[in-house]
Amino acid sequence: SVRVRYAPSPTGLQHIGGLRTALFNYFFARSQGGRFILRVEDTDQERFTPEALEDIYRTFDWLGIQEDEGPRNGGSYGPYIQSERKGLYQQYAQQLIDTGCAYHCFCTSERLEQLRHEQTQTKQGAQGYDRHCRSLSPQMVQERLERGETSVIRFKIPLEGDTIVEDLVLGPVRRKNEDISPDPVLLKSDGFPTYHLANVVDDHLMGISHILRAQEWIPSGPLHVLLYNAFGWEPPVYVHLPMVMGKDGQKLSKRHGSTAVAEFRRLGYLPEALMNYISLLGWSLDDSREFFSRQDLEALFDITRINKSPAVFDYKKLEWFNGQYIRELDGESLERMVIPYLQEACLVEDPISEGEKTILHGAIPLAQERLRLLSDAPDVLGFLFRDELSFDPLMLVPKGLDAAQTKEVLEAVQPKLESIFSGEGTEEGEDLLHRLAEDLGKKVGQVMMPIRIAVTGTKASPPLIPSLHLLGQKKTEERIARAII
Ligand code: GLU
Repeated sequence: SVRVRYAPSPTGLQHIGGLRTALFNYFFARSQGGRFILRVEDTDQERFTPEALEDIYRTFDWLGIQEDEGPRNGGSYGPYIQSERKGLYQQYAQQLIDTGCAYHCFCTSERLEQLRHEQTQTKQGAQGYDRHCRSLSPQMVQERLERGETSVIRFKIPLEGDTIVEDLVLGPVRRKNEDISPDPVLLKSDGFPTYHLANVVDDHLMGISHILRAQEWIPSGPLHVLLYNAFGWEPPVYVHLPMVMGKDGQKLSKRHGSTAVAEFRRLGYLPEALMNYISLLGWSLDDSREFFSRQDLEALFDITRINKSPAVFDYKKLEWFNGQYIRELDGESLERMVIPYLQEACLVEDPISEGEKTILHGAIPLAQERLRLLSDAPDVLGFLFRDELSFDPLMLVPKGLDAAQTKEVLEAVQPKLESIFSGEGTEEGEDLLHRLAEDLGKKVGQVMMPIRIAVTGTKASPPLIPSLHLLGQKKTEERIARAII
């Protein structure tokens, strides 16, 4: 049966790349009727923070996904936090010593430092540990342990032969054993395991059937396979997920934009949109379909459709996706969702007043088409809630018009406002502006834009005539008068 895990080492806010790994594991488990396990790899105690784990839970809850086993809901393979399993790793490290696959190393950090220094002086550069303690006699080891010398436990990388990692997507990945960094530490002197030991022991003990993780872990693959062999265990199926890049082909990082899920949440991405977009980072169902709900992905996700080549994280595309999802919302939900953003911008009261609610209610159908992020709401709707607009007077002069022409347009509009407001429909108002443009010998845009800027303070407001109706005649008149300078 399928058992997969997301095994983060929580040190900061949940990253988009990590979320992709979590989701692919989750979707795969659901599509196979398997189990999705959350395991916390906190063996690097200095870097781990409880807030980082909280952020993972918040992310899961926000997206509506739930682990089947993990620290917060338990399960029969626990504990699911590695620091609570310390004794186990010591036991398994000892097992490898007993079978001749690992050894105690007493080298001091001074010696290792010196070794590194000498290696960098030679042309070949660093070659790693020189296996100094690999050939200590058992008696010698015993003596030194009894004397209380501190030691680490290192794994014996075979001196010859090859190791093959079978990857479901990439095929066999072969590595010469002599190219694997010599004799990695499995157990540190403080008794904590390194990532490699803890990861392999836990995947085995937790019955993990498939490992879906980022391609950056490929270099660890051969060592892990050697560890499975040394223990006499069957390795899980490996599925390494393609890198996530920015548009410039570099690994996605803060340089490209937000990378923390918390940041996307704050900007007003909908969880459904983000989840949908992330599912396409290195996976496709049939190379054409783009829209998937969580339920779709839980049913349709297919690991044989994971790509080899890197995925590009396209912020513009994600924004577009989000806009599409916003359009699908019912008005009431959208209303509820934008209120906090309006409050944060001090545009409405907290709690929102009845009057403001009425305005918002009328504005939502117009805004729905324009919003790509919920955090766009203050820009798009701000003009309805502000008493006075403050903007750069230069903005009053739209492209293609000079100050005098802008003034001419606004003055010509003033006497027409009465009829724009007495007319009910949008079309009547628009016809009126069309005729006015003709009379002035201008394009319609050249008439609409000065009004739009004067009344809303932005160049990208919702459709003009309905916006004027929402704002009301009095405020419209005032703002146009103020703009005539
Ligand atoms: N703790 C590792 C990480 O932070 C897990 C890698 C793996 O999945 O083996 O990503």
